Amino acid sequence: MRLDTDPYLERYAARVRGMSASAIRALFAVASRPEIVSFAGGNPAIEALDFGAVEEVVSRVIRDSGRTALQYGIGQGRPELREHLVAVMAQEGLTAHADELVVTVGGQQALELVASCFVDPGDVVIAEGPTYVGGIGALTSCQADVRHVPLDEHGMQVDLLEELLAQLQREGRRAKYVYVIPNHQNPGGVSLSIERRQRLAELADSHDLMILEDNPYGLLDFAGKTFPSIRELVPERTIYVGTVSKTFAPGVRTGWIAAPAPVRDKLVLLREAADLCPSSLTQMVVEEWFASQPWREQIDAFRDLYRVKADAMLGALETEMPEGVSWTRPSGAFYVWMTVPAGIDTDDLAAKAIANRVAFVPGRGFYADGTGGDQLRLCYSQPSPDRIREGVSRLGELLHDELELVHAVYGADGAPPLRRRPTDPPAPRGQEPR
Ligand code: PMP
Repeated sequence: MRLDTDPYLERYAARVRGMSASAIRALFAVASRPEIVSFAGGNPAIEALDFGAVEEVVSRVIRDSGRTALQYGIGQGRPELREHLVAVMAQEGLTAHADELVVTVGGQQALELVASCFVDPGDVVIAEGPTYVGGIGALTSCQADVRHVPLDEHGMQVDLLEELLAQLQREGRRAKYVYVIPNHQNPGGVSLSIERRQRLAELADSHDLMILEDNPYGLLDFAGKTFPSIRELVPERTIYVGTVSKTFAPGVRTGWIAAPAPVRDKLVLLREAADLCPSSLTQMVVEEWFASQPWREQIDAFRDLYRVKADAMLGALETEMPEGVSWTRPSGAFYVWMTVPAGIDTDDLAAKAIANRVAFVPGRGFYADGTGGDQLRLCYSQPSPDRIREGVSRLGELLHDELELVHAVYGADGAPPLRRRPTDPPAPRGQEPR
């Protein structure tokens, strides 16, 4: 048996053969060393939770309802939890009925179930470019043909979506759905403007399109603002995904889907085939959290914390970054998306950054087509403001040095713009999906 290749390769399903862990995974492992300021993982600041209160919630569930909590449940998820999730949606001005909801193992399972439900190999799915790594993972595991529509500071460029739809029509193809993260997008740190939401809804109607609306960050606007949901505009065309990962804790792995009834029924069947039902124990813990704790105040506290961190990062970027580097200015959630000058490849930069004791995620993983080599994601949710300033200063120093090199090689005008070569490998899969 050869040890340098996978001896099981020929036996795998076609959709699994191309999957491999990327170098980025190793980078994440190194990034957790204490001397490194990590802007890499998109982890919420759960240390802001009252752990004593969580302990009391968990104990109460076992003490008062252990027999139910340790038993199987139903595939759609507990009705009591779904009622609470309806209240969370109402907090954003969204209306839903508990019957429409399916409880999932985080938003991630929701994205995977929707992809399994709709995507045959080769089917086109449209996504923002860049988009959520785990969203790409769910799509590529179903062998979707992912087409990106670029973002700007107002979110997905819906006029370019319209062009793409026309092009697909000419090719005789139709997208199975459009995957969109409208609020404080991961990784872009931007939100879809109200006009574009309306235009997207119109396009959905005129082109008979489904929308997958993924909304983990809608309640984390720094000013407490909420946005109109696409689901409210075109409910029969929208599958909505929520999660408690960013408003309570990702460790409880609790998310949900709100979908039109026929789709909901298929999703429940698919999930039963995968894992029978969500954990009764964690569902009841989440229920008890919402029933007994000041969860709205907790969300306000998270939001205030992230605002302070975002201010620290944006202030530091302003003073530390060399000319030619640009970035988005988030008004909520966790992320800044940066574009570096031509001549710098962010895969290479990531390795050098680790040596300079700062970590980020290079851009290619956020595209399904190998682009993004001049971009990177900075996540400020975890380090303290002082550490954020320190990390940005380290990154700024590195970028100054890199730019000097670029100018030494190409002259004062810098390098020609980075183009994707047809031979570029596709984006690495199996990346840490956060
Ligand atoms: N969608 C987006 C856009 C995300 O950023 C994340 C996690 N960071 C998820 C879905 C999935 O989160 P979870 O499975 O923890 O709910």
